[in-house]
Amino acid sequence: AADREIVLQATDVAREFGGVRAVTGVSFALRRGTLTGLIGPNGAGKSTLLAMLAGTLPVSSGRILCQGQDVTRLPAYRRARLGLVRTFQNASEFKQLTVMENLLSAVPGNRGDSFRGALAGPRYWRGDEAAAIARAQALLTRFGLDGEANSYAGNLSGGQRRLVEIMRALMTEPRVLLLDEPMAGVHPNLARRIGTELAALCADGLTVLMVEHELAIMDDFCDPVIVMAEGAVLAEGTMAELRSRTEVVEAYLVG
Ligand code: ADP
Ligand code: MG
Repeated sequence: AADREIVLQATDVAREFGGVRAVTGVSFALRRGTLTGLIGPNGAGKSTLLAMLAGTLPVSSGRILCQGQDVTRLPAYRRARLGLVRTFQNASEFKQLTVMENLLSAVPGNRGDSFRGALAGPRYWRGDEAAAIARAQALLTRFGLDGEANSYAGNLSGGQRRLVEIMRALMTEPRVLLLDEPMAGVHPNLARRIGTELAALCADGLTVLMVEHELAIMDDFCDPVIVMAEGAVLAEGTMAELRSRTEVVEAYLVG
């Protein structure tokens, strides 16, 4: 993967909270089509880093380039327009909407009127909405959630809700997708399904950075894997390489 085009680059990115250094000068590059893992102990700064990459939290210092463009000072919605999109550690879907409505409401440029149209039902959908509906249906099929298109999100299992959150992000057709613990609390079978489908999307050119605690998921789906500890990048490599490095094992793999 080392010869592939860099789509996201962080240089010396740092963040302090009232003098506490949560992230201390992190640099790395994401290459197109990779499913890059991000691991590290609680408090290592993983979520803070993701928030800075997505623009939901300003950096204290450092620089972030997305496809060569400096996005360091851009708000999250502008980065999203460039294809840099995140999900949140706690799923933020609309419980009172159906799964299909959740997916349609995630589409960029969906105006209030078309959103009401989506709620009103298929007879009221316009051409651009039809394209979004087709995309939503393809995602529902891909992730095995066809049968829940008309279920209220509030009635889904916790794992299915996490999946809706991922699909909401995918509805925006991101180039770079940042996932913060998308599999936390998800049944292992569903977690593997998510990993498999994300890997397939990456094979088609999507780039993913995923925070995840489950090392078996890292083993099977993520290459490379970045290890953070105490706000800094400790190591980067394949899981096999990382498992052979004692400082990584001491800092993370055995806690
Ligand atoms: P991780 O996601 O790896 O568990 P976080 O990025 O959530 O780590 O947190 C890194 C450090 O920054 C922790 O010490 C945490 O307490 C601190 N931190 C995170 N967010 C805030 C905040 N909004 N205000 C103050 N401290 C924060
Ligand atoms: Mg976190």
